[in-house]
Amino acid sequence: MTNSSNIFSALHLAQEQIADLESQLLKRKLRATQSPCDTRALVDGRELRAFCSNDYLGLANHPALVKALAEGGQKYGVGSGASHLISGHSVAHELLETQLASFQKQHIPSARALFFSTGYLSNLTAITAFARLAPQGNTSIYSAKLNHASLIDGVRLASAQTQASVTLFDHTQIDSLNGLLKIDQRPLKIIVTDGVFSMDGDKAPMKELLKLAEQHDALLLVDDAHGFGVLGKHGHGILEQDNICSDRIIYIGTLGKAAGVSGAFVCAQETFIEWLVQKGRPFIYSTATPPAIAHTLSKSLEMIKGDEGANRRTQLNKLIRIWQDEMQFSQWEKVSSYTAIQPVILGSNANALLASKLLDEAGYWIPAIRPPTVANGSARLRITFSANHSEADLRQLIATLKAIEHQVLEKAKHE
Ligand SMILES: *Cc1c(COP(=O)(O)O)cnc(C)c1O
Repeated sequence: MTNSSNIFSALHLAQEQIADLESQLLKRKLRATQSPCDTRALVDGRELRAFCSNDYLGLANHPALVKALAEGGQKYGVGSGASHLISGHSVAHELLETQLASFQKQHIPSARALFFSTGYLSNLTAITAFARLAPQGNTSIYSAKLNHASLIDGVRLASAQTQASVTLFDHTQIDSLNGLLKIDQRPLKIIVTDGVFSMDGDKAPMKELLKLAEQHDALLLVDDAHGFGVLGKHGHGILEQDNICSDRIIYIGTLGKAAGVSGAFVCAQETFIEWLVQKGRPFIYSTATPPAIAHTLSKSLEMIKGDEGANRRTQLNKLIRIWQDEMQFSQWEKVSSYTAIQPVILGSNANALLASKLLDEAGYWIPAIRPPTVANGSARLRITFSANHSEADLRQLIATLKAIEHQVLEKAKHE
């Protein structure tokens, strides 16, 4: 309850700031779904065709995984009861970690994996802990400019804790990164990058980055949130697709996207993982994820690596090809992306919001992505595909988007 007499300064500031966001068309809104995550979503009593989740393989509502979660609950209960180092670490976590490590073994020869409750936490943990391997002020972090917020926050926290120097680089200009590394005298260097950039859908040049890491004795930390499960013949992710191998790679995969469940993992040379167990504060001081989730993820990994996963990746890749071949806009900019993330850049916040609203009226759920998630002036629709979409779903979307582009451009003409 607020009236002018009981408003205190913090509350007044919050109200002002939120009003400010609203006036810049930057206020975000929560929408509660009434159905499981799938290509059709029930929202406010209406069924929408959803092209916005990161459930790339369509596993989030798969009956085999729903069954595995119930089984896991029967077997392990609902809560872990404590952090991993106290008593929360279960054989279900341990089995999952073994499976995850074997997924990356061909790419990180001495691989061990550590499971986390979220990708955000795994990134904070890994970056801060590895930056502390060298004494204060002796670490250099090179971070890709378009990295995900959780990597950015990990880098900021590491820099505050360890006086690490931080340099941003453009992942499309690897030569300049080479120049920076060459003159860097600090003993510990860490290159930090997204595997697939989450708002553009393009990939980091992993082969070139690994070459630089080897030349300049750096660690290479890659967040493959959008590659794990989908990239590579067996779905092992970007390291498989780019066919690279090194014990200096720190691989982070998330398990709430293509894997369809929740959580994340860091996979690296076993001594590095031991360091995270010893010194990774968010890992140490956080309650272990329910073992039933780990049990469900083990089942999800089986599916990812088997025929089910292969068929789903084939379907997803077919959709991506159709979109790249057939979606022609008259003015809007389609990005050349060969991943499940297909942004359409509209520029202004107003246009992106209008397009998203018209899509909603046409029965589609595709949110407008605005700053600060993307750069000013590059507001966009972020379209994502799932293996559960049919070709007919996609062709209808393409026709709808063409019509909506026309409507938005006509409206702009008359303003
Ligand atoms: C989604 C995402 C994360 C965060 O993972 P959560 O498990 O959702 O916390 C980290 N990095 C990237 C690139 C992501 O897209």
